[in-house]
Amino acid sequence: MRTLTGKELAAAIRAQAQAEAAAGPQPRLAVVVATDDEASLWYVRSIAKAAAGVDLLCDVVDLGPGARPEQIGETLTRLSGDPGVHGVMLQTPLPPGASAQQLAGAIDPRKDVDGANPLSLGRLAAGLPAFPPATAAAVMALLDHYQVELEGRRAVVVGRSTVVGKPLAHLLLDRHATVTVCHSRTRDLASVTSTAEVLVAAAGRAGLIGAGHVAPGAVVIDVGTNPTDDGGLTGDVDFDAVAGVAGALTPVPGGVGPVTTALLLRHTARAANLP
Ligand code: NAD
Repeated sequence: MRTLTGKELAAAIRAQAQAEAAAGPQPRLAVVVATDDEASLWYVRSIAKAAAGVDLLCDVVDLGPGARPEQIGETLTRLSGDPGVHGVMLQTPLPPGASAQQLAGAIDPRKDVDGANPLSLGRLAAGLPAFPPATAAAVMALLDHYQVELEGRRAVVVGRSTVVGKPLAHLLLDRHATVTVCHSRTRDLASVTSTAEVLVAAAGRAGLIGAGHVAPGAVVIDVGTNPTDDGGLTGDVDFDAVAGVAGALTPVPGGVGPVTTALLLRHTARAANLP
């Protein structure tokens, strides 16, 4: 079984981001935050740190957990109109009553470096240029890095969210995979996932995918990041059990996560260089 780690690939993508950033105006990413969720704030700090490491500017615009939806929308509109800002990202979770999908419509698609505006998803589905959500793009980057053949192969995605499952299904279709999307109401999940040659787990349920869900030799990408009692992270895949069946498997942490952050930076560098 091959362990598909993301660290080397992430470093290569960060180096590309740095080179692309040096070729134009210094890219500036604005991350809008309206939560006190510790895991979310940890992720934002890790983005800011990674940005500094490749000479990108990163502003964390913290509106606090009590922010009103209108205030969040106005902030996104202001940042979208600011010529000094090249990438705009809305961090979730949001306060009750605020819908990320509705609010993200205020992000200029040219600055939508995490593919959150519904227009970006529509453009992606239509095969038009758009920034895909960084996590979905990270899955594709890992598959490419490890030279996983996709054309004509059966791919199963577990999860249908607009940030991971749906955009990923479109990206896999674009590469001529035969794609099935599973979700919480799928009956007999294992009977579907065990047909996959490439299986992506993005449900946010620790240990959901066990040995009985995986075909021998399958390539398994674990997007899940579920907090553990000891303050760590675990994926949606039972790593030890699935390692005995799969041909290749990403670890959590150290798989999709670092590639996601690196791609967010590369998207921002590209946004800064758009004509
Ligand atoms: P979400 O809650 O919006 O969506 C979860 C999806 O999984 C839903 O479509 C739901 O129908 C499906 N699902 C839930 N339980 C299921 C079950 N028992 N069987 C089959 N399907 C089921 O979550 P999300 O935002 O798409 O995130 C998914 C996971 O990916 C989370 O663990 C999240 O933390 C992680 N994530 C990781 C990264 C990264 O960079 N590594 C980035 C974003 C999200």
